[in-house]
Amino acid sequence: MTHDSSPTPHIGPLRMVELQPRGDGAFHVLANVQLASAWNVLSDCAIRLLEPGEVLLSKDERNEQLFMVLDGRLNVHLESGEDKPVASLDAGQTVGELSVIDGSPASATVVAATQTRLLVMDRSAFFGLVRASHAFSFNVMLLLAERVRSNNFSLTRAFHLQRQFLEEALTDGLTGLHNRRWLQETLPRIVSRYRRDGKPLSVFMLDVDFFKRINDTYGHSVGDQVLRLVSATIQNTLRPLDLAARYGGEEFAVILPDTKGQGAAIAAERLRDAIEHQCLTLEDARQVRLTVSIGVTEAQGEKDASALIEEADAALYDAKHQGRNRVIVRETA
Ligand code: GH3
Ligand code: MG
Ligand code: MG
Repeated sequence: MTHDSSPTPHIGPLRMVELQPRGDGAFHVLANVQLASAWNVLSDCAIRLLEPGEVLLSKDERNEQLFMVLDGRLNVHLESGEDKPVASLDAGQTVGELSVIDGSPASATVVAATQTRLLVMDRSAFFGLVRASHAFSFNVMLLLAERVRSNNFSLTRAFHLQRQFLEEALTDGLTGLHNRRWLQETLPRIVSRYRRDGKPLSVFMLDVDFFKRINDTYGHSVGDQVLRLVSATIQNTLRPLDLAARYGGEEFAVILPDTKGQGAAIAAERLRDAIEHQCLTLEDARQVRLTVSIGVTEAQGEKDASALIEEADAALYDAKHQGRNRVIVRETA
């Protein structure tokens, strides 16, 4: 939309009529400003014409001017300008409110979406207008409040996203349990805290027996359902404070705080029994039964996290060799 009879918007001079809000209710930085009393400042401002795609501001580059769109449209990009625009600015809207006040570098990249004509206010024009017009000062205040609000919004969103990524990085996608990375990061901290406090702590490793056979007989998707069932049974059978992780394939690790080896063996036996006595019923009514083997160990002396896992794994290996579907407690010296 042009207000001119010529097809190309002209560079100048500025005409008062193009500074008037269009009455469509859209935000306009000159809304309610007595143009006649501000005219000596406004008419001194430069006019700039941008071609489509031309970059007005580059993120992090120096800027000390406020730009108001007279005609056309600007796109705001958070990064280089190659990324998707996060906002666009039409007639009466501005960029550079913060930079013109404190000389801070541009916080975004701004590119002309169409041929765009801009009013350029340097610092002395901007403060001249602030002094000349309460309405202008008020509009700038609203704009700054809006910027603060949307910055807070972006920060909060970035924080939530970061937390979500972090959680995903430490969670097993199939079962929703913690993953091996979580275990590697967390177990050493738990072990040293329990050692310092002199409190008991046990760990067990659980592996599904003949899981390859389940996969081969029923297919991988049933294998995956079995893994989800095992993980749900672990969570339902153990105490809420016990921590479970999928260690890999069909192997799970469980940390039992405040629990001695014998107590952990009882919990492990209860879990083994629960898994043996339940079954997964498929859509065609076939029933899949499964058993697990478990190796238990208690944290004692100077044993660190990896020694604990190794010991529990060794006990698990014994359980497999003694016929599977059983719990073996690692004998401690
Ligand atoms: P054992 O009683 O000695 O533990 O025998 P097993 O068959 O359970 O052990 P093995 O290590 O021979 O086979 C493990 C199988 O687990 C092989 C692999 O294809 C399967 N597997 C590993 N991860 C997944 C998974 O995420 N989903 C499914 N469906 N299968 C998996
Ligand atoms: Mg197995
Ligand atoms: Mg295994």
